[in-house]
Amino acid sequence: MSDPRTTWHILGAGSLGGLWAARLARAGAPVRLILRDRGRLAAYRQAGGVTLVERGQARLYPLDAETTDDPAPIRRLLLACKAYDAEGAIAALAPRLTGDAEVVLLQNGLGSQEAVAARVPQARCILASSTEGAFREGAWRVVFAGHGHTWLGDPLDLAPPHWLAELEQAGIVHDWSLDILGRLWRKLALNCAINPLTVLYDCRNGALQQHPAELATLCDELGELLHTCGQAAAAEGLHEEVQRVIRATAANYSSMHQDVAQGRRTEIGYLIGHACAAAERHRLVLPHLAALHQRLLKHLNQRGLPSH
Ligand code: NAP
Repeated sequence: MSDPRTTWHILGAGSLGGLWAARLARAGAPVRLILRDRGRLAAYRQAGGVTLVERGQARLYPLDAETTDDPAPIRRLLLACKAYDAEGAIAALAPRLTGDAEVVLLQNGLGSQEAVAARVPQARCILASSTEGAFREGAWRVVFAGHGHTWLGDPLDLAPPHWLAELEQAGIVHDWSLDILGRLWRKLALNCAINPLTVLYDCRNGALQQHPAELATLCDELGELLHTCGQAAAAEGLHEEVQRVIRATAANYSSMHQDVAQGRRTEIGYLIGHACAAAERHRLVLPHLAALHQRLLKHLNQRGLPSH
């Protein structure tokens, strides 16, 4: 049975954090946002809450909020910041987590989850991979842009948590995955094949159809990497799926393209950066992937954007 009294602490009132917070709260779950500092808390209070825009309709959710250094214990935490902020954020919250705490990690890519888990050995870390789409239209205002699916799983404990029922009630479409690492690796491989090229060619996803040989070579190398990392299932049909995704999202700019175009930091270190680091650890030579990584690093560097 779900315990309705356990509060969902949500760190990061950004796109996904706001989207989860609003849906959980309107389904009756207790929700508290955790904001960076008193300045952000004051700005949030001034705004009166998080606004979620769905199908053109805006609704304000006046959710409770606090700062990281609030003393109240945390039993259930949704970590909804970017991958590069996750370790620092959890380090600040670690003293507040109870012995039976559960932490849901929404970060894209790989690498941040391990870093977070190492900071909170007392907690159960549940990994998530989501195809939902949301963006910030303004301060404390989130647009639910694309319905999707969220997979959750725990590589160390295959038993699903009881609170999945709360996600169901909140309309958060999800499945419990017995192979969440495989899912995260697969998504990372798709990202490595598509996103860096869209940045370097400065194009929409669909324009990559003009570079079939480059895509095929990258998919071969990514497949090799997945096999070497013990993720053979994630390698199956990768090239076909990359082609399918490119066709299905032909008119879209990838998330990395959008980040670079808007001068925002990318999650490169947890995507192609993580893939190249894993290859190096296994002494696996993947020349095209490594060259793509270097070209992307140079591109970001020229724009004053971080390389990790
Ligand atoms: P976002 O809109 O940039 O929101 C991140 C939030 O985290 C911001 O509100 C930021 O606060 C907050 N934050 C960072 N460090 C913090 C700290 N130490 N204490 C408190 N708050 C902190 O990011 P997002 O798009 O939701 O992405 C979150 C993760 O989900 C990423 O890994 C992303 O790749 C993944 N994801 C996103 C989507 C999507 O559609 N957005 C889809 C799938 C996966 P400030 O406002 O103060 O900067």
